[in-house]
Amino acid sequence: MIAYFNGQYLEKDKITVSPDDRGFLFSDGIYEVVRFYKGKPFRLDEHQKRLEQGARALRFNRDSFPEFLEIAHQLQTKNNLLSTKSAIVYFQITRGAAPRSHSFPKKETPLTVYSFIREFPGNIEEQENGAHAITVTDIRWAHCDIKSISLLANTLAHQAARDRGAIEALFIRDDAVQEGSHSNICIYAEGKVKTPPISNFILEGITRRAVLELCHTLRIPQSEEPIRREDLYKAEEVFIVGTTVEITPIVRIDDKDIGNKKPGSITRRLQEVFRELVNTSL
Ligand code: PMP
Repeated sequence: MIAYFNGQYLEKDKITVSPDDRGFLFSDGIYEVVRFYKGKPFRLDEHQKRLEQGARALRFNRDSFPEFLEIAHQLQTKNNLLSTKSAIVYFQITRGAAPRSHSFPKKETPLTVYSFIREFPGNIEEQENGAHAITVTDIRWAHCDIKSISLLANTLAHQAARDRGAIEALFIRDDAVQEGSHSNICIYAEGKVKTPPISNFILEGITRRAVLELCHTLRIPQSEEPIRREDLYKAEEVFIVGTTVEITPIVRIDDKDIGNKKPGSITRRLQEVFRELVNTSL
């Protein structure tokens, strides 16, 4: 597999990262995961914008990454993945390598840029039949709006979910559900699709935005409002949304069945129109 590292395309296992890299030492970096359907990116511009916002938030010495699309295309070509139905491209930027110190290195220290591609069919079975989730206390820092590579709380939460046969852990902060370890959360209750409002405690997902647009088009009432743990359990439908999970129904949370334990009709309708949106944007 060929990956990109600081201006070069190399066999992935030939890439070496400096032990002084601030990504390695401090998790001082940001990333994006873009879905490619049949060789075409889904909303790449929005991913690029979010990456640039992250670079500004972290005060990187560069906050524009126009090379992203070209790198993604090169990786598809070099790995013969152009005609693949679905792939993800991972793009990571750290503050670069410098002697370990909490203070930032000199302005001219080049950022470390790493990107790889992977074939990614998605989990069709989970999208069809629904999956389980658990709730966990949100122990993350207060800047979940930045797509930071510092994901320890997310990986611990996700593993706790996997250990219990679930696919996602939902973070609860002060009794309000925020988002999943790698997805945003939506419920359908009282005739509305509801999702927590944008704040520093969630990542503004690109799929979340697309789903809200689709609700608008379909005239499904929607609201961005706090969702309590009890609201989750009592919802008619629950689904998670994200680049990798797309729209995945959640039919059980902790030890409680959601709705009639099957993916609901609103979730199904949104899955259908999401698929149409993907196909028409290719
Ligand atoms: N929240 C978190 C914590 C995530 O990691 C992700 C996946 N990037 C999302 C939400 C969903 O964002 P997107 O739809 O842009 O993939």
